[in-house]
Amino acid sequence: MTAPSLPSLFLSHGAPTLSLDPGDTGARWQRLGQELPRPAAVLCVSAHWMTEAPAVSAPPRNETIHDFYGFPEPLYRLTYAAPGAPALAGRVAALLGEAGIATATDTERGLDHGAWVPLRLMYPEADIPTLQLSIQPHRDAAWHHRLGAALAPLRDEGVLVLASGGAVHNLRAVAWQGGPAPSWAQQFDDWLAAALADGREADLLAWAERAPHAREAQPSPDHLLPLFVALGAAGPNARGERIHQGFTLGSLSMAAFKLAA
Ligand code: ZN
Repeated sequence: MTAPSLPSLFLSHGAPTLSLDPGDTGARWQRLGQELPRPAAVLCVSAHWMTEAPAVSAPPRNETIHDFYGFPEPLYRLTYAAPGAPALAGRVAALLGEAGIATATDTERGLDHGAWVPLRLMYPEADIPTLQLSIQPHRDAAWHHRLGAALAPLRDEGVLVLASGGAVHNLRAVAWQGGPAPSWAQQFDDWLAAALADGREADLLAWAERAPHAREAQPSPDHLLPLFVALGAAGPNARGERIHQGFTLGSLSMAAFKLAA
């Protein structure tokens, strides 16, 4: 199979309501799906699948998981039934195994909203085989970078590594009525973009100590950890281009990055 080598992506997915009101972020995701070479499969690393040890999903067809509460009823009727990719799940587990990382296979798990909210806009036909890899919230950036690095060969096999989380994600600071982004959120967002643009891997992996307002921007880092998988998957000396920026609900960053070596 000759497939183009793909970049990896980190998308900030915002609130589930983006599906009802896609705005400029949704428009950017739509264009992104059209700009990229069509992937043979998508490996999504979502902030919303957290496990003790890495797990990969391998159902024959993906169920749509509505893993959010108290949102408008129409959101619970949206589905994204992309085919699964059980053979690729085996390949993911094998690559991680070669890196000394044991990986469980979950044949039941479908797609959570961190995966399907962006994918519905990027690939609305839901015809690309899709699977997920879980994150480990008790592990650090270096661990997730290692997961990504082990999966880098997939980019040459036409697999799009799509990390989905949030560049600034502090639910306690969310302004549900909207409003301008506070300065601490903008400063963290811009630090991340600059460090990615320069390919400053050591700074990125030490983000909790080195980024301004790290604790406010990422009080529990689950929404940032997928970024490090995407960074590792992009290959050694990767850089990240910020392909979209902005904030919603005050401090929630919608930044998106395309990562490549
Ligand atoms: Zn989320």
